[in-house]
Amino acid sequence: MPADTALDISKLKTANLGFPRMGSQRELKFALEGYWAGKRTEADLLAVAKGLREEHWKLQRDAGIHFIPSNDFSLYDQVLDTLVLLGATPERFGTGAVTLERYFAMARNSREQTAMEMTKWFDTNYHYLVPEWSAGISFAVDTTKLVNEIHEARLLGIETRPVLIGPITLLLLGKAADGFDAFSLADKLIEAYKKVLARLVEEKISWVQIDEPILATDLPEGAVDLFRRVYRQLGSVPIKLMLTTYFDRLAENLPVAIDANTTGLHIDVVRAPQQLEEVLAVLQPHQLLSVGCVEGRNIWLTNFAEASAMLSRAVDVLGEKRVIVAPSCSLLHVPHDLRSETKLPARLKSWLRFAEEKLGEIVALAKGDDAIAVQNAAAIADRAAAESSTNREVRAQLDALKEIDFSREFPYGERAGAQRDALGLPLFPTTTIGSFPQTADVRKHRAAHKHGHETDEAYEAFLREAIESCIRRQEEIGLDVLVHGEFERNDMVEYFAEFLEGFAFTENGWVQSYGSRCVKPPIIFGDVSRPQPMTVRWSEYARSLTERPMKGMLTGPITILQWSFVRNDIPRRDTSWQIALALRSEVQDLEAAGIPIIQVDEPALREGLPLRRREWEAYLDWAVKAFRLSTSGVRNETQIHTHMCYCAFEDILPSIAALDADVISMESARSKMELLDVFRANSYPNEIGPGVYDIHSPRVPDADEMYALLQLAVQVIKPEQLWVNPDCGLKTRGWPETEAALNNMCAAAVRLRAEMQV
Ligand code: GLN
Ligand code: ZN
Repeated sequence: MPADTALDISKLKTANLGFPRMGSQRELKFALEGYWAGKRTEADLLAVAKGLREEHWKLQRDAGIHFIPSNDFSLYDQVLDTLVLLGATPERFGTGAVTLERYFAMARNSREQTAMEMTKWFDTNYHYLVPEWSAGISFAVDTTKLVNEIHEARLLGIETRPVLIGPITLLLLGKAADGFDAFSLADKLIEAYKKVLARLVEEKISWVQIDEPILATDLPEGAVDLFRRVYRQLGSVPIKLMLTTYFDRLAENLPVAIDANTTGLHIDVVRAPQQLEEVLAVLQPHQLLSVGCVEGRNIWLTNFAEASAMLSRAVDVLGEKRVIVAPSCSLLHVPHDLRSETKLPARLKSWLRFAEEKLGEIVALAKGDDAIAVQNAAAIADRAAAESSTNREVRAQLDALKEIDFSREFPYGERAGAQRDALGLPLFPTTTIGSFPQTADVRKHRAAHKHGHETDEAYEAFLREAIESCIRRQEEIGLDVLVHGEFERNDMVEYFAEFLEGFAFTENGWVQSYGSRCVKPPIIFGDVSRPQPMTVRWSEYARSLTERPMKGMLTGPITILQWSFVRNDIPRRDTSWQIALALRSEVQDLEAAGIPIIQVDEPALREGLPLRRREWEAYLDWAVKAFRLSTSGVRNETQIHTHMCYCAFEDILPSIAALDADVISMESARSKMELLDVFRANSYPNEIGPGVYDIHSPRVPDADEMYALLQLAVQVIKPEQLWVNPDCGLKTRGWPETEAALNNMCAAAVRLRAEMQV
């Protein structure tokens, strides 16, 4: 970096947009779970939470961050907190001030009451509680949490910039009751937000971070007008708003973001670097720009040369006083710190930055620290040159791919007959989605083996026994297509990642998924390849135990990609195709081992969709190809299954059909086969198993109930296309309810079979 560039940005302010809440050792998780289990008092839990907030504020101050967030902390979820702040929580949980008990009742299912619905926050793996909008809703502002946090920080001598979820994002993320127009809440919402802001004015707060990530999506009709109206009103409160957008480009929503006339605008230039120029061209003279140039969604070090170039460009146009250095979005989506990683190879570690280290990057960028920039350039170059980054053989394989590598030899119409002959299955074949109960015993053996307290031989023997007993039970139940049960798997991605080259694992790289639940995504750092078979011996062993057809079980390339931290130095498409090639070899090995049916699960296909519709097609094109690449290298007779969990498939049905799996199983029992309407409208070409019972609950549906669902299904799906299976894997269930439910399921299938054959 030239010295004059460094000077240009030496006086920039820095901001953080949100810090991970769990604590470096997941202290919050354990405190929450202890409290829920009745082992900790409320005071205990609150003390842990307060301690974490204080620690994180100090950490940000000591790092040199100027704008430090408050109210980014949450005991469960920030959207729920916003509803509490506005007094807009659903009435069925009670009214009046929200106690801790009621707060958690809204968030977590209990025997007495179903919690609020939960769904993914934009395209992240973080889940928020979905606001419920109805005519009766009244807003009663309660700023206790918001103000308490400001005071807590002040006691440490730290002045914070409180974070609020913006009104438009909140409104649009909610679900309106039947026939209710959520936009009609606008006036009440404006009043409520004004009250909140006025309260912050009283507290002598000068800046508020107001998050409107919805601006990075395709807005529904009327939203732009609503946005203008709401922000014109909020503008009357004498407080500075940092309108904060992230996860994608503002694009056609840029004018409305500018017209909101806030004192500052934050943009994500990691996901959308091109928008820097677009924004610089239209920012108003009084507006500050917060440049989100340190990635808040991934764990790689920032390329300082690129980030500094963007910052100096912003400074050239706006001057130093109007430019703030920030992460692209809240750091909630990355693990806490790298310090606790003792086992990662040092070289890989030198390319990584978790939340704490990212704060360091933000400050270094703002200072234009030359020494750090030199180190950064060296690390970037080292990563690019590292042998582990490039596997020539894999690259050559990718380059050599031809159209035919993405297609089965014959179309489904011709495969179906061959498969029918080879498998000899009855009408309405019954099967499961793969996993069987992961009992305490299974988990105990796995943990003992992992920590070296159980020998490989003993663990192996245990797994064989578990598989054998699972097969006997499936035979007794009368299932037609059997599975081995997946007892050897901890997690459907980690299990495969551990066999593949190009993946690394952290000890403590946890990221919040929802509430106290955290996930530890593997890190894809190099080209992916499969040095040896991964599942073959288990499937082969299972097959040797029974005459019935055995189904091999794999996790698909998009799901492995989506649930990992991916490299940012090659396109995601290429990584997914590398994984696909590895899986293709596994599929072929399973076939060679005599496994006649192979299921490749893709529950994450839908969640990989870009935020903007116009980008869907490009994504779906390579994602579908990744699946086809993994599954198309088999003979006609080999039957490929896939499975997906979540219901909202309407909009991507053509892509699901394009996967060209012979059979697909999907979740639908919870929605009473509403899924079928979609298939009625689009006539699905291959075979399909709409789940006939909900595995998420221990309830055992009787045969009549499942029979009734199957009757609905045969009205839409041709009998020879219909499979019978539960909604999803059974690993979270116990054996008694599993056996009872599957017995009933098979009875329902047998009954329908008898009737249809008459
Ligand atoms: N085969 C996996 C299982 O049964 C599928 C899990 C999933 O769909 N998420 O557990
Ligand atoms: Zn599932």
